[in-house]
Amino acid sequence: GLTDGPTSDEVVAADLAHVFHSWSAQGSLAPIAIRGGEGSRVWDHDGNRYLDFSSQLVNVTIGYQHPRVVEAVREQAERLVTIGPAAANETRAEAARLIASHAPEGFEKVFFTNGGADANENAIRMARLYTGRDKIISRYRSYHGNTGAAIVATGDWRRIPNEYARGHVHTFGPYLYRSEFWADSPEQETERALHHLRRVVQAEGPESVAAILLESIPGTAGVLVPPPGYLRGVREIADEYGIVLILDEVMAGFARAGRWFAFEDHDVTPDLITFAKGVNSGYVPVGGVIISDPIAHHFDDRVFPGGLTYSGHPLAAASIVASIRAFEDEGIVEHARMIGDEHIGPALRALAERHDVIGEVRGVGVFWALELVADRTTRAPLPAADVARIKSGLVAAGLLPFVADNRIHVVPPAVVTAAEVAEGVGIIDDVLSRV
Ligand code: PLP
Repeated sequence: GLTDGPTSDEVVAADLAHVFHSWSAQGSLAPIAIRGGEGSRVWDHDGNRYLDFSSQLVNVTIGYQHPRVVEAVREQAERLVTIGPAAANETRAEAARLIASHAPEGFEKVFFTNGGADANENAIRMARLYTGRDKIISRYRSYHGNTGAAIVATGDWRRIPNEYARGHVHTFGPYLYRSEFWADSPEQETERALHHLRRVVQAEGPESVAAILLESIPGTAGVLVPPPGYLRGVREIADEYGIVLILDEVMAGFARAGRWFAFEDHDVTPDLITFAKGVNSGYVPVGGVIISDPIAHHFDDRVFPGGLTYSGHPLAAASIVASIRAFEDEGIVEHARMIGDEHIGPALRALAERHDVIGEVRGVGVFWALELVADRTTRAPLPAADVARIKSGLVAAGLLPFVADNRIHVVPPAVVTAAEVAEGVGIIDDVLSRV
């Protein structure tokens, strides 16, 4: 039955005894025990069910226990559970082919990594080797992962205790609701953010800048959908100065933004694309870099000085093949787009009309944020203690939220139904009314 075995409290106690947790002081943790899941729902060991509006770390895009993906992993495990990266493997080749088939023209090769951080790490390495330059310009409002260069490319507070990688420069990007540029229209924000970036490139010395590394839509930093023309303008600056443009699609890619890649809505083609999360919904850890032809061919007769024991692991590859085929056959990318346009967006905007605490609603696809404010006029962020009370209220009511700073990110699996959207937004409505 659903509640055989230990209770949730027993599992939490066992966890806290020996598991050292990410990004936390270890003494004050209260993890939720999750025993199983299906679609957009998970359950604990006591029979409590939760609607997941977080997709965990915004990665379970295809939902829990998609039968075709589970079956593909099982089948591959029986055929060949592991093989090194130097071997040619049928499943790995098919995974790379399928990924490249959804990238823009001129991207044929995929370098597989274990996750998103090392995808960015290797994209940075490729850009440096390709250009012979050193500096990487990224944004303060960003998260790129937790390895040596990726964490320093990250702009948020997590980079500061880790600042030992060299050659990183940060800038501000567009964020009209809290504009760094005194802008009051999207056009102004685009123009001024581009001016700022160009001036940073010039002041750093364009001949020293290897890459501009950006999340197509900054995710953890607040689902900051760029205003029209911004990414296109960044592409122009990169071209003008011979700089590689790396777009980090780790969170935004593979249906999250209602497209295969979020940049498709922004009239821009990067030189390197990093991916992870949605490519296989994290059923097996994997990430990678999709490499445009000129950079790929740069390494035809030069050694690429990078690699990983598990690069293109067959279980990961099998889960990618099955996920992408399911996305194609079941129209999951199109569903994500539709559910955002017709259900999540309208429901959240209606919610904002009822609750003054919501300062802004923004997003696309299954990638949304509610920005909570103490005061709509000053836009002062809602204090952390109030956000924490809202978060525990949501969990107690059966909804798993993704909370970051003063925001609730509404990021359910891409397979979420209209009824589940209504149910989850209803829970947010109740909790905001009570707390
Ligand atoms: N890049 C972005 C945009 C992310 O959101 C994340 C993870 O949240 C990463 C990179 C790092 O990926 P991973 O945790 O798989 O290393």
